[in-house]
Amino acid sequence: MDYRILVNKTNSISKDFKPDYLVNAQSKYKDDILLEEETLHSFRKLQEEALQFGYQIDIMSGYRSFDYQDKIYNDLVKEKGFNYALRAIAKPGCSEHQTGLALDFCVYDNDKCYVEHEILNFPATKWVHSNCHKYGFIVRYPMDKEEITSYNYEPWHLRYVGDLALYLYNNDKTLEEYYLEKE
Ligand SMILES: [Zn+2]
Repeated sequence: MDYRILVNKTNSISKDFKPDYLVNAQSKYKDDILLEEETLHSFRKLQEEALQFGYQIDIMSGYRSFDYQDKIYNDLVKEKGFNYALRAIAKPGCSEHQTGLALDFCVYDNDKCYVEHEILNFPATKWVHSNCHKYGFIVRYPMDKEEITSYNYEPWHLRYVGDLALYLYNNDKTLEEYYLEKE
């Protein structure tokens, strides 16, 4: 598995792409979430360290098949129109969630679960953002990098990139910038 794989609005993966080692994430948010094995293993370590600081996090979304992405994309187009959908969600084949290396985390606070924009100002979120690189993760769509990633800031979306995470974190670079630099 290429943990550095670049998937975005201009680099798509085929309909048939499926990660080799998908495992059940055993998330308490939802039963049937799947993730690539090493990604899950690393997230568990991040989660364990977070807990030592009193922060409870879990996975609310992981692997999504091409067909599933196709469905949620088209549902959103129907509901809110094409232009809205284009900015808010990846087209099928363009979602990192199809790699099994991307996950959306949620934060538990007093037994209540918070997701997506709700976690913006949580200390747990801030902690995850400053520590996830130690476990091979990057905040894939950071604030102030919207022009480069073509995504609005998503504080909940983490991407596993293995040992590249440390370099990206220390140099404040997105995955797109890493590939531009290599050209
Ligand atoms: Zn996501």
